[in-house]
Amino acid sequence: MVEPVPSHEGSDAGSTPSRLAVVRARMARSARDAGRTPESVHLVCVSKGQEPEAIRPALLAGERIFGENRVQEAQRKWPLLREAFSDVELHLIGPLQTNKVREAVALFDAIETLDRPRLAEALAKEFQTSSRRPQLFIEVNTGREPQKAGVLPEAADDFIAFCRGPCGLEIEGLMCIPPAGDQASPHFALLSTIAARNGIRSLSMGMSADYELGIQLGATHVRVGSAIFGERPGH
Ligand SMILES: *Cc1c(COP(=O)(O)O)cnc(C)c1O
Repeated sequence: MVEPVPSHEGSDAGSTPSRLAVVRARMARSARDAGRTPESVHLVCVSKGQEPEAIRPALLAGERIFGENRVQEAQRKWPLLREAFSDVELHLIGPLQTNKVREAVALFDAIETLDRPRLAEALAKEFQTSSRRPQLFIEVNTGREPQKAGVLPEAADDFIAFCRGPCGLEIEGLMCIPPAGDQASPHFALLSTIAARNGIRSLSMGMSADYELGIQLGATHVRVGSAIFGERPGH
């Protein structure tokens, strides 16, 4: 039997629940095509730039993992939403300044943007006094873009060892954001290689335009914003 291929065509005209259904169906199909179970891939709904009333339909549709790129914006939006949906898992997917580490550890369940020794040290220090232990993903600048965050690919092994050794941090996964306009597959493959040789199990890779490719290449987390919520306000 041939499954109909769900389409994103005209998806901006749809509602968040209908767009979500498309994303979920396409994720499941990609997982099965890759010989994986749909449960092996987590959908991080990227709600940055979206107000709580735009986020609520995704929560009501059953989504529980959300991604935000700014600590302050997340602090403003999520406490109230969490009163109604206490099992929400929040991921920080934007850069983290060391002076915001305390707030980030208090708020987020995963920090996907660990990318420098100072930040690793600050997290380790915060863990001495906080009972919270967000999952940590190291961001790798697979495209070697000077303006972009992330550890360079050739420095990744040493940085992972530094996080695990002197800092005593548990590393859950790796994350990358391929350069705009590049073929994403070499970046995803590189991330997967670095993870495998370091015994790291989770891979956060793939966004609205390429989450299916991410899943084909082993993503355990895809970060999808506009394909779920439509264009972000102010874009
Ligand atoms: C905005 C953002 C996303 C989601 O992008 P979409 O193209 O809207 O899916 C994913 N990851 C990161 C790090 C982002 O900043």
